[in-house]
Amino acid sequence: MVQLNEMTIHQLRDLLRAGEVSCREILEAVFAKIDAVESQIRSYITLCRDEAFAQAQRADEMLAAGEAPPLCGIPVAVKDNFSTAGVQTTCASRLLENYIPPFDAEAVARLKQAGAVLVGKTNLDEFGLGSSTENSQFCCTRNPWDLSRVPGGSSGGSAAAVAAGEAAAALGTDTGGSIRQPAAFCGVVGLKPTYGLVSRYGVVAAADSLDHVGPITRDVRDAALLLQVIAGWDPKDPTSVRKDVPDYEAALTGNIKGLVVGLPKEFMGDELDPEVKEAVFGAANLLESLGARVEEISLPHAEYAMATFYVIISAEISSNLARFDGVRYGYRAEAEDTVSMFIKTRQALGQEAKRRVLMGTYFLQAKNYEAYFLKALKVRTLIKGDFEKAFQRCDVLISPTTPTAAFGFGHRTQTPVTMYQSDIYTCTANLAGIPALTVPCGYTGEGLPVGVQFLGKPFDEPTVLRVGHAYEQHAGLPARQPQMEVEKNG
Ligand code: GLN
Repeated sequence: MVQLNEMTIHQLRDLLRAGEVSCREILEAVFAKIDAVESQIRSYITLCRDEAFAQAQRADEMLAAGEAPPLCGIPVAVKDNFSTAGVQTTCASRLLENYIPPFDAEAVARLKQAGAVLVGKTNLDEFGLGSSTENSQFCCTRNPWDLSRVPGGSSGGSAAAVAAGEAAAALGTDTGGSIRQPAAFCGVVGLKPTYGLVSRYGVVAAADSLDHVGPITRDVRDAALLLQVIAGWDPKDPTSVRKDVPDYEAALTGNIKGLVVGLPKEFMGDELDPEVKEAVFGAANLLESLGARVEEISLPHAEYAMATFYVIISAEISSNLARFDGVRYGYRAEAEDTVSMFIKTRQALGQEAKRRVLMGTYFLQAKNYEAYFLKALKVRTLIKGDFEKAFQRCDVLISPTTPTAAFGFGHRTQTPVTMYQSDIYTCTANLAGIPALTVPCGYTGEGLPVGVQFLGKPFDEPTVLRVGHAYEQHAGLPARQPQMEVEKNG
């Protein structure tokens, strides 16, 4: 029997509407799991137990009164770079360790308005910089499928929480792959929507031109349901797009006959693990058997994506992190004079954040600007053009989400470029601003989950979700749950 804490949002929604369970019972199941496994998994930086039970009670009252907003009573985890009113928001950084925002990020406010219950704030790489969650300054999150491996990053806490049954769904942010890569490593679904579709108001910025907010869920339908709630224009976010939001759940028709699916040959190179490759080809074959046509295509500038991405993200993050200087925001170190205070304060940043600030400052220096930053912006335009061309022929593209399955702790921390390579297939979608979805598509011989990525035209989330959902329905993956060694309490 599937436990309440392991169910999808739509399963819980049906049970709640039929009066078969209460929001309180669902939340109790979630916290029972948290009590059993959190000491090992460490998905959360902060748990909101009391407030969550109060929210669940309000949700039960709403249900009793016959009102059921779309996420009524659904326990959701939120990455700790979303501002949450009255709840510590750290970005996994010492610089924000004691920060308690007076307001909710727009996406969080919309979740609450839709009746969702905030379980807690999840772990991440400091300020979203990383691909393993090892750059958190507070704790180390483990992959529920194999405790000796990373959950991916930077939204590793959110993905681990969903995979471990410690929340029904979660919010993450994705600057170069930080929703999709951890979702793939943890065997769950992750969606990076089109740039401008979901408000980033109240999300602590990493790189403004690349940051996206999106859902991490147990299946594609749940991703559609969460997106429905958080998508749509927000006047408080200047990059938010004023556009009607379609009905995403209605797009899940199961029918993908006649769709043209492009398979970029540049995403099938030597760096790709053979087991992952096989799983992705398997997914492509399945789409063909469902009536789609799969064609090999080319994204000629994809080979420059990683370099381009790391120049742009470093430049933007160096500028964004400048505000944490001991005067304007966050932590202040004690020192005798102002200059030493600045220096000591900035020393509290973690190693990866410092590396990015140094790189970004270098790229933006007057003498380097044209050779690096400006050049990167030009290549970004070429990459975007590659996609535009591909989408003249194709409805969606299919690719691996990551070159390998989850790796072990410490395996890539000493070689930053190897770590950066984790995003090689995901960061192009951030550079181009297009929607991208990861769906579990198999397991390696060692039993680790593998993800397949579907990319679509700007604002064509309906088609991306439709293809992901049709795939998921027919993939017939063995229903495995991560086997965590459960520590008994008391
Ligand atoms: N892993 C990439 C980085 O380290 C992207 C992170 C993200 O998407 N936030 O910057």
